[in-house]
Amino acid sequence: MRLILLGPPGAGKGTQAHRLVEQHGIPQLSTGDMLRAAVSAGSEVGLRAKAVMDAGNLVSDDIVNAIISERLDQPDCAAGFILDGFPRTLVQADATNSMLASKDMELSCVIEIRVDDEILAERIGGRYTCANCGAGYHDENVKPAREGVCDHCGGTEFNRRPDDKPETVRTRLQAYYKETSPLLGYYYAKGLLRPVDGMADIDAVSAQIDEVLANL
Ligand code: ADP
Ligand code: ADP
Ligand code: ZN
Repeated sequence: MRLILLGPPGAGKGTQAHRLVEQHGIPQLSTGDMLRAAVSAGSEVGLRAKAVMDAGNLVSDDIVNAIISERLDQPDCAAGFILDGFPRTLVQADATNSMLASKDMELSCVIEIRVDDEILAERIGGRYTCANCGAGYHDENVKPAREGVCDHCGGTEFNRRPDDKPETVRTRLQAYYKETSPLLGYYYAKGLLRPVDGMADIDAVSAQIDEVLANL
């Protein structure tokens, strides 16, 4: 199974990707996570990406295309993968096509998680993750069972992303509408687009995705 999760920032792509990883045993390929790891590691890519990410703009196509192409060659991608947050521009979508063709991989479908803008701001504003295992939480929607303790690993330290502040979120939403939303038409025309209602609660969104995958 080779999936793309498409949707605006805060739609729930990462949340659903984590569930699909557990269900299907295929890796999540999140360019956002990979870029944040590069920034923390202080690598050359990280140094180039940091300011752009902090401002809420998109990192250059060349950088992310190279990261994904390399990642797809890892053995754990042989049985399938979930692309989360990539492709994000038409140039990246074309590059994805060529990459997959040259690696003899065929895309199963593109799942579009649809969410209204007002809700996105709330989802992003309340988002935090476990510093130890990366599990995702939300101040209102997804609280750990014991306050301040990660359900998955017992960790007690949590992170908030520097680009999750309201000023930056506006720029990220604009980038989504300007550069990423054209991909909806692009994949619709290829017969690959499968929209799901991302306004529903997390389990209900997962159920819709399960249904899409059952009908592939
Ligand atoms: P979100 O989950 O909120 O959509 P991501 O974690 O996917 O955000 O991305 C965070 C930031 O990383 C983006 O704002 C952008 O600067 C950069 N980024 C991630 N993926 C891409 C990509 N495919 N192309 C360009 N920039 C990207
Ligand atoms: P994305 O990867 O698309 O940027 P996330 O998966 O990080 O989005 O979700 C953004 C925030 O919203 C997180 O705090 C997450 O816990 C929460 N969230 C995700 N899906 C839902 C949902 N269906 N209903 C309510 N909150 C959600
Ligand atoms: Zn944890």
